[in-house]
Formats: sequence, C-alpha cells, structure tokens
Amino acid sequence: MKIKGIEVTDSLLDRFQAKIEKVGNCWLWKNKNSRYGRFQLGRDANGEPTPISAHHFAYELLNGPVPKGLQVCHTCDNSLCVNPRHLFAGTQSDNIQDCCVKGRGSLQKLSTEEVKDIRELHTKGLRQVDLAEMFSSSPSNINNIIKRRHFDYVD
Ligand SMILES: [Zn+2]
Repeated sequence: MKIKGIEVTDSLLDRFQAKIEKVGNCWLWKNKNSRYGRFQLGRDANGEPTPISAHHFAYELLNGPVPKGLQVCHTCDNSLCVNPRHLFAGTQSDNIQDCCVKGRGSLQKLSTEEVKDIRELHTKGLRQVDLAEMFSSSPSNINNIIKRRHFDYVD
C-alpha cells in the first residue's frame, strides 16, 4: 500500500514503531516537539522530503485514506497517541470538542462504573445534555461514550 504516494515498506514500519512508546493502551510518539508527532515518510519522486502527521499515518495504515473533508481525531484525547484503534475520522468540530474535553480533564474523572451508568441512563431516555450535567462532563464527551468512541473497552 502507499501513503501520500510513498510505498509502505517493512523498514518504514520499523522506523515508525521505533518512535513509539506504549503507555497503557496509548502508543505515544516519543518526539514531543509539537502538538502532534511528525513522521518523515521518505522522499517523493522529485526527491522532496514527505512529512506526515504521525497519527494521520497510523490511521491510514489501518483504515486507508482519510475521507475527504475529515481529519483524524483521537478518542483518547491524547494528541501524541498513534494507536490506530484510538483514531477516527471526524469533522473539525469533533476535533475541537476533543480539545475542549481534554482541557477540562473530564474524561479522566469518569470511572468505568460511571460510563456504564451513562450508557444505561441514556437507554432509559435521559438526554445527553442532562447526563453531561449529572456527571460534570461535556455533551460531546457523553456522546462519544454513548457512541463508544470513548471507553469502547467498557461493556
Ligand atoms: Zn490513545
């Protein structure tokens, strides 16, 4: 397969993996000099260096090209994470909401018991805005939990 026109070889994947540190379920990019990791894919047909966001590369490895108009967002709210299972294609506003949730730290505060409660209460008809109020969270975070974009390991 090719990403940004460059063939993904075993040595390219080795180079990618060497830059990752696994912390819990997250695969963190070791080079933290920007908000997102940067990965040098190689050189294109004209010999020009071809950089890509590390999380964007990880997403394409598993899912193929990012749908037009969407960007790669994190379910774990960790912008340096490149675990493909923590990535989804979303809109700009999904991405901004992720940042807001992260800023407030509300995701970390919820326990797995609370996540189960949120999902159960939602099936009983409680609205997402009310659940956000009850659990001191944001409606987008509640939505992500209900849609299983967050805490997909909690059943
Ligand atoms: Zn992650």
